[in-house]
Amino acid sequence: MKKTLRDIDVNGKKVIVRCDFNVPLDEAGHITDDTRIVGAMPTVEYLMNHGAAVILLSHLGRPKGEANPKYSLKPVADALTKRLGTEVWFKSVASVVDEEVKREAASLKAGAIMLLENTRFRKEETANDAEFSKELASLADIFVNDAFGSAHRAHASTAGIASYIPAVSGFLIEKEVKFLGGALDDPARPFVAILGGAKVADKIKVIENLLAKADTLLIGGGMTYTFLKSKGYEIGKSILDADSVDLAVSLLKKAEEKGVELLLPVDVKAGRDFDNDTESAYYDSDAIPADWMAMDIGPKTEALFADKIRAAGTILWNGPMGVFEMPNFAAGTRAVAEAMAEAKGTSIIGGGDSAAAVEQFGLADRMSHVSTGGGASLEFIEGKTLPGIAVLEDKS
Ligand code: ADP
Ligand code: MG
Repeated sequence: MKKTLRDIDVNGKKVIVRCDFNVPLDEAGHITDDTRIVGAMPTVEYLMNHGAAVILLSHLGRPKGEANPKYSLKPVADALTKRLGTEVWFKSVASVVDEEVKREAASLKAGAIMLLENTRFRKEETANDAEFSKELASLADIFVNDAFGSAHRAHASTAGIASYIPAVSGFLIEKEVKFLGGALDDPARPFVAILGGAKVADKIKVIENLLAKADTLLIGGGMTYTFLKSKGYEIGKSILDADSVDLAVSLLKKAEEKGVELLLPVDVKAGRDFDNDTESAYYDSDAIPADWMAMDIGPKTEALFADKIRAAGTILWNGPMGVFEMPNFAAGTRAVAEAMAEAKGTSIIGGGDSAAAVEQFGLADRMSHVSTGGGASLEFIEGKTLPGIAVLEDKS
């Protein structure tokens, strides 16, 4: 277990917090979705209310180690000022830290707050450079990492900085570790994992790790057809990961050896072409016509999966069941999301597109946890140690 904000005394301290303010901006530089800013509030407000002087850090986009006004955090500073009702000090400094920033940090009072410029304006950020890490650490007494979406990267502001000052997790990372870590380490059983998405190859390590932990694995989405192919089925024009067919065979075998129940779709919704308005029909999985393309799971599979989800103690879902971006092929993904929303077990969504699907259906609030990190949650579910979490202090 990692230490969190609650485990330390922040009163009278300067606390530097790595947030995930990598928000989407429109052409005019306006923030089009402030979910990440809202998400940072519990940690920021806790610190302000507990007598800390708060220095915020984040990256935004990919300025590739150069100052670029297009990727300035100025709009974030403005949004924070508005939301907090108190001035968030900000100056667009190409070097992120300069003499004025140092003076401002040194004189920052308890309850006051400042935001530094985009850490990726410095090439040393992604290089996890020691000097830059030290420079950031020198501004504060304590480091708080609350940027789960960047925790799979060992950068100066996510990992390097923790070599120089005490480091703990913020509330966002705490929640991610509680749910994702809880599911993997000590799940309420039965533990049902649902996997979908486009390609088997992207999810091999995820499947392997879950084969060691889950009681039941439900496979849907594009990766289905590589598995069906490996069983000798006709899959028509459905998406095939030809290089992974042998792997699919060995994964099916592994599941059997380990006594993990692995269920593939028993029926699909297929179309003539990869198009929302194409002619469509339902087929059993062993009867997909040669010139059709399966783009969603079918109603029998929806019912089968929903039964497993209802009976689960823990449900972990990564990857859509079909081409949910097309309304005519979104029903399977929606059915899984609805079953999870109604389930009594702990329901956890990890993965960029799965989270987007759940948001789109308006069901996010009814899940126990929707992970905020696409790549980071995938690596977490793969069983990897995330550098931005590894550097945090352990609870004694
Ligand atoms: P996540 O981001 O949740 O980890 P992925 O990125 O692996 O999920 O996969 C999401 C993509 O998989 C979606 O864009 C979806 O359209 C695609 N997909 C799902 N099912 C199919 C299918 N049957 N055929 C083609 N693409 C599919
Ligand atoms: Mg994705």
